[in-house]
Amino acid sequence: MARRAVLHRPLAPPPDSASICSATRIMNDDCIFCQIAAGKERASFVWEDPHVFGMMSLEQPTPCKVLMIPRQHVESLFDLSDDLAAKFFQATVKVARAVRDASGCPGLNIVQSNGKLGQQDVFHFHLHIVPRFKDDGITLRWDNTVQERSHLDGLAQKIRSAVKP
Ligand SMILES: [Zn+2]
Repeated sequence: MARRAVLHRPLAPPPDSASICSATRIMNDDCIFCQIAAGKERASFVWEDPHVFGMMSLEQPTPCKVLMIPRQHVESLFDLSDDLAAKFFQATVKVARAVRDASGCPGLNIVQSNGKLGQQDVFHFHLHIVPRFKDDGITLRWDNTVQERSHLDGLAQKIRSAVKP
């Protein structure tokens, strides 16, 4: 039986511009993930190290869906330092393998959202590990029309020029 699933459910109301804290601040008192990192809110942890934690998502559209979160309050992907990004994604790969083995899922998505238009719900960087099963009701869809090479080359050049070391 197919189940309808929602990948994102806010744990707290989306912050307004006044409550979004600086990307460099270590902790935000209004942020649910900072509260969990500080041990002030309950969570079911699957991974803990000095920089990163993983916990069971409150919603389980498929069994064993997990959230990976840096302890430091960084708002989005764009605010991760190289060092934290490395630690974060190394931990994520280990937990993704564990989710695969624990759930027996034949497929798995990593979902990460930035900005309101990117469907970010909690404005503390995080990533969803979503085990996938046959007929699980989850869909990730976009236009798959193949574009002309000249168009792709133009976009590639624009992005290459924007990359910073
Ligand atoms: Zn936070």
